[in-house]
Amino acid sequence: MAGIIVVFDFDKTIIDVDSDNWVVDNLGFTEQFERLLPTMPWNTLMDTMMGEIHASGKALGDVAAVLRGAPIDPRVPHAIRAAHALGCDLRVLSDANGFFIETILDHHGLRGCFSEINTNPSHVEDASSGGRLRIEPYHEFRHGAAHGCGVGTCPPNMCKGQVLDRILREAAAARKRVVYLGDGRGDYCPSLRLGREGFVMPRRGHPVWDLICEDPARVKAEVHPWADGAEMEATLLGLVRRVLVEEAAMLTPLVDCKLESTMPVAAQDGMPIMPLGVKN
Ligand SMILES: [Mg+2]
Ligand SMILES: [Zn+2]
Repeated sequence: MAGIIVVFDFDKTIIDVDSDNWVVDNLGFTEQFERLLPTMPWNTLMDTMMGEIHASGKALGDVAAVLRGAPIDPRVPHAIRAAHALGCDLRVLSDANGFFIETILDHHGLRGCFSEINTNPSHVEDASSGGRLRIEPYHEFRHGAAHGCGVGTCPPNMCKGQVLDRILREAAAARKRVVYLGDGRGDYCPSLRLGREGFVMPRRGHPVWDLICEDPARVKAEVHPWADGAEMEATLLGLVRRVLVEEAAMLTPLVDCKLESTMPVAAQDGMPIMPLGVKN
């Protein structure tokens, strides 16, 4: 097992679109969605939209069919499988919902690569009439509750930074490095919480990248941007191999088969072996 935990945002990171917009647009509910958007938080709106979609006579199976058609860059599943094969512990941290994410990961045969999906919980009601998806907030914010994050870029239903803090504590206890990938405003808070030994992979040209560029000194982790699936794959696997090589160098007297078999691969591929703390 490599000493690396890789945490992926889902929308516009694993898939190339926002799954919420994809479902709403492809089922013909864009107008209604846009009319309601200024009146309620996004998480509440998506639960409301699932009610509207169900009331219009569409079954949850129709929603699933649309989700299975969500575009994904073929290099992304390749990167996920390769990182998993190299022994990384992969997690999802997303403001979508359990049903959307599981449906898509299952469709691409990727669910088994992830040890954890952290997202807004969902469940099915009215199964006898096709199924109505209920979407709940990750952090309760109705009835006056609040997650209390002060960064200012987290939605009321989810502070990804607070979820990442728990993962960072696990990583520290297991002496693992953490890589975080994301594109949106909600990915800024977790990017700030990574320490100097962490890596953040923001999607270039997207909101998290703009936020990081506004004040780069706020980010302690090494920053490795990417723009598309090919660049994500090359960058992520480059970091994973680099950490494996550094681990092997530190553990030389205790080296195990996994590390021995990994070292020549990294050398063969000509991956640069950089000291810690150096940015590309
Ligand atoms: Mg996203
Ligand atoms: Zn936050």
